[in-house]
Amino acid sequence: MYCSRTVFRCFKTLERCADAVTGAAGPVFVTLAVVLISIGILCFFEVILPMLAFSLITIPTCTLIAFNLMMHYYYVCTVSPGFNDQPSPVAGTSFMWAKLKRQHEGNTSPQDVVMITPAEMAQCRKCVQMRPERSHHCRICKRCILKFDHHCPVRINQCVGIHNERHFVLFMAYLVLSTFCFTILGFSKAKDAMGFTWPMVWLYRMPATLFVMIYILCVVLCFAVGVMLTFHLWGVAKGETSVEGQDHEHYSKVAKSRGETFVNCYDMGKRKNLELFFNIGPSGGYSITTLFFPFRIMPYTDGRAWARKGGLERHDGVRRGEELTDEEDEGFA
Ligand SMILES: [Zn+2]
Ligand SMILES: [Zn+2]
Repeated sequence: MYCSRTVFRCFKTLERCADAVTGAAGPVFVTLAVVLISIGILCFFEVILPMLAFSLITIPTCTLIAFNLMMHYYYVCTVSPGFNDQPSPVAGTSFMWAKLKRQHEGNTSPQDVVMITPAEMAQCRKCVQMRPERSHHCRICKRCILKFDHHCPVRINQCVGIHNERHFVLFMAYLVLSTFCFTILGFSKAKDAMGFTWPMVWLYRMPATLFVMIYILCVVLCFAVGVMLTFHLWGVAKGETSVEGQDHEHYSKVAKSRGETFVNCYDMGKRKNLELFFNIGPSGGYSITTLFFPFRIMPYTDGRAWARKGGLERHDGVRRGEELTDEEDEGFA
């Protein structure tokens, strides 16, 4: 676990260096990402897809994966992360919004009932506004974000918060899935494009050099985003955001030094934490199909109330006044 933490910290440090260098160039990177994703999809559909067997299955499946990839990227860049100084949005009525499950659909057993209690309010030291717990002030957006995860200037050019965190995770998941398919299924075509087969025959409109570049990019992204996705999902399963993950490591040490154990009050157990994050499952508002089609859904809370572990109103093992401030959180960076 120490080794994987070190790898994660290296990735985090690399990401933050990239954030610092490219902060102002956010829109350029988003445009570049859109261009690269589009070329990748064109490469796959022109070169790889026609050689696959069972076209009745593979064509709709690959089209759905590509559609999910593009739509979740669009949503994560355009859906507001949830600003503390704005009223809570309401669910839309267009066809892109999933329908809420009917009440009492399925059998909700007592252990599936989740108690959601209002968040504690505190004043932000930077914008001086009252904000609910789990909010953090983003120094780039200069506002408080509800359930702040991190600010991402390179890939999405905005914060990840309560309203776009699900799209962020699903975008990473579909990126890993599509780059994995490209890497495995496109291997023989990449060998052709690199000239390993003789005589070299390349009868596609897509230039062979561009195909090779996209192939190499897919291999790198599959590994790098795969590592990030794994750690992000691990955090979700533990009921914590990226910034809370760092805080909780610190709180655990403080509690341990007193002979106590730190308990995260938002940790409802791995399965329930994942269900709450995606708002599915027996107590969730939506069907599991919302993971496979690029629907928009509302989170289980508006960021001003939280589901808590039975009997806990706040974290165990950390006392009032010991919680880290926004400035101290930035000190981890
Ligand atoms: Zn603030
Ligand atoms: Zn931000």
